[in-house]
Amino acid sequence: MSISSVNKSLIKDACYINGHWCQASSGQTISVYNPATGEELGQVPDMGQGEALAAIDAAQSALVSWREVTPKERARVLRRWFELILQHQEDLAHLMTLEQGKPLFETRGEVLYGASYIEWYAEEGKRAYGKLFAAPSNDKRALSIQQPIGVVAAITPWNFPNAMITRKVAPALAAGCTVVLKPSEETPYSALALMELAEQAGIPAGVINMITSSQAAEIGKVLTDDSRVRKLSFTGSTRVGKLLYSQSANTIKKLSLELGGNAPFIVFDDADLDAAVAGAVISKFRNAGQTCVCANRILVQDGIHDAFVARFKEAVEQLVVGNGLDATTTLGPVINQAAIDKIAGMVDQAQSEGATLVTGGQRHEAGKLFFAPTILTGVTQQMEIARQEIFGPVAPVIRFKDDAEAIAIANDTPYGLAAYFFTENHRRIWKVAEALEYGMIGINEGILSNEIAPFGGVKESGLGREGSSQGLEDYMETKYLCMGGI
Ligand code: ADP
Repeated sequence: MSISSVNKSLIKDACYINGHWCQASSGQTISVYNPATGEELGQVPDMGQGEALAAIDAAQSALVSWREVTPKERARVLRRWFELILQHQEDLAHLMTLEQGKPLFETRGEVLYGASYIEWYAEEGKRAYGKLFAAPSNDKRALSIQQPIGVVAAITPWNFPNAMITRKVAPALAAGCTVVLKPSEETPYSALALMELAEQAGIPAGVINMITSSQAAEIGKVLTDDSRVRKLSFTGSTRVGKLLYSQSANTIKKLSLELGGNAPFIVFDDADLDAAVAGAVISKFRNAGQTCVCANRILVQDGIHDAFVARFKEAVEQLVVGNGLDATTTLGPVINQAAIDKIAGMVDQAQSEGATLVTGGQRHEAGKLFFAPTILTGVTQQMEIARQEIFGPVAPVIRFKDDAEAIAIANDTPYGLAAYFFTENHRRIWKVAEALEYGMIGINEGILSNEIAPFGGVKESGLGREGSSQGLEDYMETKYLCMGGI
């Protein structure tokens, strides 16, 4: 199957600014490749700073009318977008597997997961309540109203080419904001297909504008320098997040940052072994290990260590590595050459630091960007592999003695996005959940993200939450009204 078998109306090779499909004024394009085969899928415009400014202009003029549209009417439009995405689930999933690599069962899931944010915020937008406060004196009344922040810039990564967009754009639009979106240059087609469906759904011109560019730093500068952009929502690396944070200081933008993680996955002696193994496989190897909430360190207690490793090895060796379009594939390629070289280097270094290879350990013959699912044991918290986000199908196992040691190891990182632990003891569930310095905790669960829950991290993993009612509040300002002379 190639890109030509995807519904033609969803394959766009132009950007979307002010309701128009347009090319870069420079005539430059970016090539997009299939990571499973190396084949060029096509080219999209390589937009520059001028086009980024035009997108902000469009978002600023559209804001005037969009924020006046009633939440109920905005909900209707969002609902139509949601339904169109569901109708095109299969095409969107194929397109995503072609440009991103993850297996079809995962891209089908992501399309549903991404759409769920649009459905949720179509509903939640109607529930943006103000407050009436107890008055400080009899001649005054005090209340607050919620208003859209204004123009929002959204910068998104390649690992969830659909859902990272809907998770930002849906609450922004529901709140009455307008958006300038810059998706990852690695996966622009999924983003452009979403714009096509947004247009079909009747989202007015200028309300969402999207530019693709290879000059991320230059575009980022325009978006952060412009005082009309009142909020920046970014998902990506901690390195770029810090840069955008400092660039936003000058105009005091609101920020939502979903950055890197170093998730501990803790298996206690009393865990249900089957559930822990299944949880570790899905949490570690989903999307070939390329999610910010993927288990990065598997901490296993002494008493269950050997049994866990044996069963984990069995399960990992059943993963089917291959092209994501093959129905049997459960593990696809990683995104690009830099990613696979980094993963291979980390595995080699871990072994030279004393880790033991249990399975995998090298590139896989399925293609240039495939890495064999790997388990390393004897890993310690001092090793490089335990300190960095791996973003690949490699599971380092660290042995620990007791709860205090597990918690100390788990928290010994500047990151604080997701953590997981498996235990059957209710007292331990409370104590450990409260002690872990993370924004999200999976308890006897390897997958935790959904639209109803607040997704986000603490420490250097970011700011703000996406999903839940909090995700809507993050796109609204509170305005206090003090009424006197009553
Ligand atoms: P990843 O490692 O997931 O690719 P990045 O942080 O490099 O994470 O990329 C996430 C998004 O940030 C992408 O859309 C990318 O183009 C964009 N990006 C990268 N560098 C910058 C920058 N200096 N300013 C603004 N956006 C950037």
